[in-house]
Amino acid sequence: MFDLTVASLPIAAAVGFALGGLIELTALRLPSGEPLLGQPACPACGAPASHWSWLFPRRCAACRFFPRSQLVLQLLAAGTLAAAWFRFLSAPLDAFRVSLFTLFLWLIARIDWTHHLIYLVTVVPTLLLATILALLASPRALLLSLAGSAAATLLFLIFYGLGRLLYRRPALGSGDIFLAALIGAMLGINRFLPTLLLGMAAAAIAALWLLAYRSASRLTYLPYGSFLAAGAVTGLLLWGPA
Ligand SMILES: [Zn+2]
Repeated sequence: MFDLTVASLPIAAAVGFALGGLIELTALRLPSGEPLLGQPACPACGAPASHWSWLFPRRCAACRFFPRSQLVLQLLAAGTLAAAWFRFLSAPLDAFRVSLFTLFLWLIARIDWTHHLIYLVTVVPTLLLATILALLASPRALLLSLAGSAAATLLFLIFYGLGRLLYRRPALGSGDIFLAALIGAMLGINRFLPTLLLGMAAAAIAALWLLAYRSASRLTYLPYGSFLAAGAVTGLLLWGPA
């Protein structure tokens, strides 16, 4: 079993690195409505880039821009996929679910980080996928997943209502409610609460840091969904799927 672990980790990391590049490409093109398979171009100046630029981030020859976010995302995806296979090697379906879920969570986090938006076209298919995979795992997993999704949605609807009451404007976007529903479906009723708390705690620490070291007006732009999604990645690696 140990040999299998050692052999599978570099493969998982390499697959994660490649898929991280595709996630960055999707995150750049989906909000702008560009075709996903169009000619590769520099995100800064639009100069044509090499056909493999999505896989190997390189400095743009025209404007010297280096796609740092792409490299960060590729390393994050490589690390989480290797961690998922290391953690759940004895349960391949769990390893597969965690791998797939974390890749979609990185996509949602990446888009929210730049655009402060959570796209339903990323959340709803992932929610369906999480439900189908829970059904494949076991009837119990499906029940945990459905209950987790319902409870997380209810919790965020309450937050949403409280935000409206206290601040007279929504403190949360409706996208955050869909994201909570997705995180509930991925982690199940037993684990969605500590998972959401992880993301909320990370967002609170980031908000305090911004307050202390930068202008407080930046608080308005805190990408809350990115923190929730990163918290969910951590929760999945710690506790596994529903
Ligand atoms: Zn350029």
